[in-house]
Amino acid sequence: MQRSLALAALISVSAIHAAGAQAARPDADPRIAKLVAAVSEDRLRALTQKLVSFGTRSTLSDTMSATRGIGAARRWIFDELKRSGPKLQVSYDSHRIAPQGRITREVELRNVMAVLPGRSPRRVYITGHYDTVNLGSGGQLALNSGGNNPQASREFNHDIDAPGANDDGSGTVLTMELARVFAESGLEFDATLVFICWAGEEQGLIGSSAHAQALAASKGVVEGMFNNDIVGNSQGGNGMIDNESVRVYSLGPEDGMSRSLARYIARAAATYVPAHRIRLMAREDRFGRGSDHSSFTAHGYPAAVFRESNENFSRQHTAEDKIEGVDFKYLAQNARVNAAGAGSLALAPTAPIVAAERGATLSRLPSGYDATLAWREVPGAVAYKVYWRDAWENDWQQSRVVGNTTTHTMTGMSIDDWVFGVAAVGADGLESLVSAYVSPVRRMNEVKVIR
Ligand SMILES: [Zn+2]
Repeated sequence: MQRSLALAALISVSAIHAAGAQAARPDADPRIAKLVAAVSEDRLRALTQKLVSFGTRSTLSDTMSATRGIGAARRWIFDELKRSGPKLQVSYDSHRIAPQGRITREVELRNVMAVLPGRSPRRVYITGHYDTVNLGSGGQLALNSGGNNPQASREFNHDIDAPGANDDGSGTVLTMELARVFAESGLEFDATLVFICWAGEEQGLIGSSAHAQALAASKGVVEGMFNNDIVGNSQGGNGMIDNESVRVYSLGPEDGMSRSLARYIARAAATYVPAHRIRLMAREDRFGRGSDHSSFTAHGYPAAVFRESNENFSRQHTAEDKIEGVDFKYLAQNARVNAAGAGSLALAPTAPIVAAERGATLSRLPSGYDATLAWREVPGAVAYKVYWRDAWENDWQQSRVVGNTTTHTMTGMSIDDWVFGVAAVGADGLESLVSAYVSPVRRMNEVKVIR
């Protein structure tokens, strides 16, 4: 009964969509297609124009001026988020930071946060950092080619121009635009959406670290964190032009939830933004570079970061990171991919728990040569979908909807030769992240040797 309901829901969603005019694939959910279509390239440009007008947004820059520095910038971001819809709960997520590393004096650091409450407290984050830095002549390119880091110096000047149109104005305006799109959608999400513009990223992920630390201490639950840092430039400093793809980096292990999130993003993009290719990267980030997603993975939360396909290092961390270096058509596509992934995830049920120590198992029952999967029931799920792949592959190869049950047997399939995972399916056909069964790490006892 339950099973046929779920399948009927899947079919009816497809039927509604087929009648629509969206370019997305037939399995698309019209609500998400609408979110994706609501992203405005013009607003992304207008927000960036205003953001760069503050001159610098260095975390240690002026906070009193009405027109220049990080104080003026954060007040404007706050007001703009407030204007984006009455459903958004806008606040400063403030932290007093002691001098440490590149924070050369005590500072009150403010992340700007907008919460769109869902039916459940579990959270889906969309973020970018609004602070900027100017490392002096040569910027990131000089660093890449062996230069010194003047930011480490105590005499570093935080009031020189650091417009940060792309790093990370692009991620900031993407976050602000999606706050508007989601708040105006009228949709009731199951997960709570949290849009945050971080401060202190350039000094060592300070704002996001303070936030994630407090979240973990309060036992907050995160379904997925979509971080966007340098996502608006389509022409690399090496001359390569690519406005049709974006890189998504995620921390391993292969079957950890950050990789599951990355695969989910790729599937959502293929469904709702098929012209934009997702280049999944099986590593935490680019070499020697980092961003705020790592503050989340440090506490075990699933997170991934979007990075433009071809970077121009000579603009990054200089006064030349200007609006001319942002391709808004490209940035809008990256925003649409975020909308598709985060929208799907926030409307779907949570991912099933498949960990053996929590009452779920993968066994060879019943014959000793079969694969029997067990998982914990997920609230709101009307069916589950089992995924599998060859043990040497890194992405799912096959799947099967198995109805409303908490166990399923794959007859004659060896659990030693295949990787299995399971996702929860909601009443409207949307799926959770896939939880994979991983074999526990074997701990060896020390061998007792007689001397
Ligand atoms: Zn950045």
